[in-house]
Amino acid sequence: MATLSADLPLERIWSLVAKRARMQAEGWVSRDTLCFLAGIAVVFALEIVVLGYEKSSVYRLLHPTQTTRTDLVWIVCKVLGLQAFLFAGFSLGLVVVASRFAQKYVGLHLVDRVGHPILRVFVFLLWTDFLDYWIHRGRHIGWWWELHKGHHSAEEFNAITTARGHPLDGVAIVFCYALPAALLGGGIGDAIPVLVINAVHAGLTHSILPWSWGWFGRYVIYPPTGHRIHHSALREHHDKNFGSIFPIWDHLFGTYYTGDVLNEEVGVDDNYLNRRGFRYDLIEPIRRAIRSVRGLPVDGR
Ligand SMILES: [Zn+2]
Ligand SMILES: [Zn+2]
Repeated sequence: MATLSADLPLERIWSLVAKRARMQAEGWVSRDTLCFLAGIAVVFALEIVVLGYEKSSVYRLLHPTQTTRTDLVWIVCKVLGLQAFLFAGFSLGLVVVASRFAQKYVGLHLVDRVGHPILRVFVFLLWTDFLDYWIHRGRHIGWWWELHKGHHSAEEFNAITTARGHPLDGVAIVFCYALPAALLGGGIGDAIPVLVINAVHAGLTHSILPWSWGWFGRYVIYPPTGHRIHHSALREHHDKNFGSIFPIWDHLFGTYYTGDVLNEEVGVDDNYLNRRGFRYDLIEPIRRAIRSVRGLPVDGR
């Protein structure tokens, strides 16, 4: 039998990958997907009420530019479960195996032991947000930035932009999560209210709603304008506002944007994505990430 080690037969890995892929393929009507779509639908409705139909995401999705077409491809991948399939494929199943091993050997599930359900949700959101913050900082450096750039290559926001991202960026994130997720647990993360809250917030922060929510947005929960600054191509906004839900981490670690310039546009300098098709957008970042690891100019041949 072909093996990587005595405990890790290749057949076992592939059966895990196949099982995960099958689950995801069947997942287009799954609870997670429906919660995600419900959250995005709330943001779509809010935009139409606040901004009017012609400025809303719904209008722009029905009249797509190149960047919006890329978002549409990614949202279809997500809804059909293909994104997770690509994750598993790109990682040769190692993500699935790493998560299983971490659960088995360091699965302390500390968060799941918090008694009160509301407190459990709060603790869960706080620790996942803390992890997200540091992982996100990593995603802006070297090879990982070449992969994360796909998410930042959006040239307009339309709520579903949240689903845009390179599968290998996702793989690296899942690896980073495997150990802390096993240590701290997070069964509550599968609860419907938590899934919907996360989806609404992710949709809001990738919408063009002009809300900044005053002191609440500055210190308690990131408003739409907070993450828009993170996606800005303006130099003074670079490497600011890494947090997902809570701005506290950016305040604590010195990456909160304290200026008063608000960008209208989003995107990255020298954007080469959204222009040459999905296959190119999938392969070119990998080539550049490898060149980055080898210390070569990323855009060289
Ligand atoms: Zn980022
Ligand atoms: Zn974003």
